[in-house]
Amino acid sequence: MEDYDVVIVGAGVGGLALGCALVSNGRRACILEARPRVTPSKRGLTLQPNGLETLQQLGVLNQVVRIGAKTTRVSWYEVRKGPLATLDYSILDHPFNYLLTVVPSELELVLREAFSRRGGVIYDSTFFRETLRTRFGRVIKAERNGSPVEFSAKIVVGADGENSGVRRALQIPARIKKYPDDFLFMLARPMPSLRLEARQYGARGKLVGFFPTRSATYIFYYIPGTRLQQLRSRGLQSFLGELVNIEPEVADSLVGLRSWEDIAHVSPRRVDVNSWVADRAALLGDAVHALDPSWAQGANMALQDAVALSNTIERCFALDDFSTNALKGYERIRRKQAEFAQISAERTAQLTTTENRFYYWLGKRILKRTGRNRELMRVALRASCGLIDHFSVQERIRFLI
Ligand SMILES: Cc1cc2nc3c(=O)[nH]c(=O)nc-3n(C[C@H](O)[C@H](O)[C@H](O)COP(=O)(O)OP(=O)(O)OC[C@H]3O[C@@H](n4cnc5c(N)ncnc54)[C@H](O)[C@@H]3O)c2cc1C
Repeated sequence: MEDYDVVIVGAGVGGLALGCALVSNGRRACILEARPRVTPSKRGLTLQPNGLETLQQLGVLNQVVRIGAKTTRVSWYEVRKGPLATLDYSILDHPFNYLLTVVPSELELVLREAFSRRGGVIYDSTFFRETLRTRFGRVIKAERNGSPVEFSAKIVVGADGENSGVRRALQIPARIKKYPDDFLFMLARPMPSLRLEARQYGARGKLVGFFPTRSATYIFYYIPGTRLQQLRSRGLQSFLGELVNIEPEVADSLVGLRSWEDIAHVSPRRVDVNSWVADRAALLGDAVHALDPSWAQGANMALQDAVALSNTIERCFALDDFSTNALKGYERIRRKQAEFAQISAERTAQLTTTENRFYYWLGKRILKRTGRNRELMRVALRASCGLIDHFSVQERIRFLI
């Protein structure tokens, strides 16, 4: 049985970031990952000031900047009607006041390299099954190519996403809510006019985004789940034609999209749990706070969780205490911001992807007000960039009247 200080389940962004933080502190850490290898993603992932700051703390920001495309402005338009607002991230008083859009599989490769270089071990094709409490720590049982494998550790961490098996093994109940919208996303060829600016187009029941990555254009398309079948049955060319109608400049970039296989699809879900920690165990990222993608915060918050948890784990080692109580400090640091982002992202989605006339009108009004007023924009961006964990009552009112 392989023995480690910490066994992490899941080599997504959160698990890898935690691994990097732990091995930098001299901990022996390994990551169990079910997938056999990193496969190229069909989407982009936008890193925001909170995530960028965390990558800096992990010592990998320079490498990540090299694989991403920076934008400082997101311009919002109403489909076929014209501009609504331009949100300017450079007004934030923060060292990383920009967005960086990367391809998530490339980010994973950077984090994997940093983790391995610092002595961490990744076991691919290794599927977590269960964990048992022993006198000295935990045993972690997994399966690799049909054969059982076992690990022992002082603590196990579930960074295994919204369907977390570690969460189930720890018997931590989760409330899982499926959102009514579906989400199509793809990587098209670069669009020269999208350099320092990303664009989002809204209409009632629709939201489409065009974000530059280093070597592609990341396109996402929200649609009410009930309309997805209809959209697919009209055929791929009709869908691509609609994208061109919305953003004519994307026409030449869509040539590589030849079948529905090139376009990925998810139904976003929200996860809420009663506890992020248990005796000699903790959860992070989507396993505890999966949220609507409209705030582009899931991975950014998983990065923040990783650094906070690594600091708490260091204290546990110093005190030789890995109890639920000792680990609870991590949850106390992170839960408020995560819940704020979950609720706010849900509200944003309700106002931006809604088919309801009133909510759509309200969403547009809030967006226009935010675009016109620099102070309000600063508040909105500080929130959606993960830099604050609540709105004051006055701020809420100012968005409306
Ligand atoms: C379309 C879309 C767009 C998004 N855009 C953004 C964005 O722009 N910005 C942003 O911050 N967030 C974004 N998100 C959210 C973000 O991708 C997630 O929040 C983030 O990936 C969560 O990271 P994680 O490490 O917690 O989990 P995951 O990335 O889900 O990683 C979990 C890992 O655990 C592994 N695993 C699962 N079960 C087991 C098991 N039993 N044994 C071993 N391994 C296992 C999985 O294979 C996976 O590698 C987006 C999400 C979607 C769906």
